[in-house]
Amino acid sequence: MEFSSKLLENAVNEVSQLPGIGKRTALRLVLHLLRQPNEQTDALSQALQMMRNNIKFCKSCNNISDLEVCEICSNPNRDIGLICVVEDVRDVMAIENTSSFRGLYHVLGGKISPMDGIGPHDLNIKLLVDKVKEGKVKELIFALSSTMEGDTTNFYIYKQIQDYDVDISTIARGVSVGDELEYADEITLGRSIVNRVPFEASLKL
Ligand SMILES: [Zn+2]
Repeated sequence: MEFSSKLLENAVNEVSQLPGIGKRTALRLVLHLLRQPNEQTDALSQALQMMRNNIKFCKSCNNISDLEVCEICSNPNRDIGLICVVEDVRDVMAIENTSSFRGLYHVLGGKISPMDGIGPHDLNIKLLVDKVKEGKVKELIFALSSTMEGDTTNFYIYKQIQDYDVDISTIARGVSVGDELEYADEITLGRSIVNRVPFEASLKL
C-alpha cells in the first residue's frame, strides 16, 4: 500500500495491529477519524490511555475493575461460598447478563494450552486453589468453553482440589461443543448454570 503521508501510514499501521483489522479497514477507519472533529480523536486516544494506565485486576477474583476489589466481590448480597470459574472478563459479562448467578467469579485469564505455550503457572490458578484450601468455598462451578483446552484446565484444577471439602460442578452443556460462552444466548447460558452437573459425573461421559 503506497501512502502519500508518513503520518497517515503510521496511523494505519497501528490500527491494523488490532485483531480482525486488515490494512484496508484500518485505512477506512483512519480516514473516518480524519473527517471527524479533533475532539473525537482526542476522546478516543484519551479513553484508551486512561484504560491502559488506570485499569486494575480485582485482587480477589482477577476480574477487570476500576477498584482494588471489583464490584461483584464487594457486593454483600452475593454468595461468597459459590464461585464460577471462567476464562476471561467476557465470560463474566455474559453470565452476569443472564441474571441467573448470584455467586462470585474467578477469572483464570486463559486456558491451559501447550500448543500456545500456556501452562498452569501462566494462569491465575493458585489464587483459586488457595481460596478452596481456606475452606470458604462450598461449590466451584467450571464454566470454561468445552474445548480440549477447557477440559484440560478443568481437570488440572480438579486434581488440585479434589481432596478438599468442596462441591465441584460444571455448567450443563446446552452450549454446544466449541462454542465460546460469550456467543451463547442468555437463556441457554442461564439454564446451563442453573442445571449444572457434578464435575465427576461429567468425567464419565
Ligand atoms: Zn472481584
